[in-house]
Amino acid sequence: MSFSRIASSIAESPTLRLNEEARLLRERGERVIHLGIGEPKNKTPISAILNSSAKLASGEVKYVPTDGLPSLKKAIIKYTEDEYDKIVDPRNIIVSEGAKQSLFNIIYSLCNPQDEVMVLAPYWVSYPEIIRMVGAIPVIVTPEDGSFVPQFYEIEQALSSYTKAIILNSPNNPSGSIYPEELVQNIVEICESKGIYLICDDIYHKLVFDNYKATPAYRYTKTDLENSRLIIVNGVAKIYGMTGFRVGWAIAPRKLVDVMINVQSQTTTCVSPVMQSAAEGALLGMQSVVETLRLNMQNNRDILLQELESFTDIKVEKPKGTFYALPDFRAYLRKSVASNSSELSTFLLKKAMVVTVPGKEFGMEGYLRISFAGSIKDITEGVERMKWALDPNAPSEIYIGERKLVRDWL
Ligand code: PMP
Repeated sequence: MSFSRIASSIAESPTLRLNEEARLLRERGERVIHLGIGEPKNKTPISAILNSSAKLASGEVKYVPTDGLPSLKKAIIKYTEDEYDKIVDPRNIIVSEGAKQSLFNIIYSLCNPQDEVMVLAPYWVSYPEIIRMVGAIPVIVTPEDGSFVPQFYEIEQALSSYTKAIILNSPNNPSGSIYPEELVQNIVEICESKGIYLICDDIYHKLVFDNYKATPAYRYTKTDLENSRLIIVNGVAKIYGMTGFRVGWAIAPRKLVDVMINVQSQTTTCVSPVMQSAAEGALLGMQSVVETLRLNMQNNRDILLQELESFTDIKVEKPKGTFYALPDFRAYLRKSVASNSSELSTFLLKKAMVVTVPGKEFGMEGYLRISFAGSIKDITEGVERMKWALDPNAPSEIYIGERKLVRDWL
């Protein structure tokens, strides 16, 4: 059988694969702890449930405009004004099946084959694959100093005449870092001066801790939106914990939105109006749900950091946002256990029934991404199991449910 060269070269999303592996293990009765998952445990906000139920109950669930329900766009305009202090027109907005589809449509609409899109490591797993899917080339910039935020000169050095766009994700999945204000300003300025698009994946922008704020790129633009190179991607998946509704959106110059509408009209047509109504309900409902989620995540982060501290040789940077931490596990890569982050993650799943995501998938070999979006019990028990599996200073016996396990590999 022969398939498309590009499609065959695309890797499966490692996070979705791990979700499936964890699900199958749970189905077999295994007591798996999922510290890989990128979604909070909160229930859907009631305003989202009510608004989508009303749409469903109307019995009028038909095709709607490709770029989004006018009423949802209105709510997005209000959101953009409240959160970004920016007035946008409905024609600057296109609603898609999650931020992931928004990103795909943007990159598909911008790039010719061989164009380069700059991705700053550590990066979300899907960026390089989406870029490759459209025949463009991901150019990865990895901070030389081992930190999670590149220096501006490293970005400048990686620019070429083929650079079409830069993706900026702050707060950052997987590290939880927030990019410094000056760096954001420099990136906006260089993009505007060189005509490079800046794709801001702001999906975590309200999940920030300790009074940190993620600087919006809009603050530094010198042109009006129609002539600007800034594209903002957002959605309801993370800040409202509405991952299953699949609603995201992009805000961009009209000309680009028009191309994206054509692309979307020939692929998915439109997002289901039931799901769009849910997103509208969330945006117009009580915003205290976001604050509750943010505080829960901050508390979970503190518990995770406290637990990780008792690991003898782990280095971890305190996440300033999101619900992920990216600890450095290089000290625990030993022959009898694993030689890289993928093997380490597999080892932890096999021995301790704990799901983590290998740092390699985010461009950070030797690290593991640990999500603190789950329950406190999962975080504490998960780290205890990891400690048992990896740290010679931890007790060699552990109970997983009724089963007593004895470590004999260190
Ligand atoms: N961007 C980032 C950085 C993400 O972490 C995710 C989800 N894991 C997405 C985009 C996709 O969001 P959605 O579920 O809205 O497609």
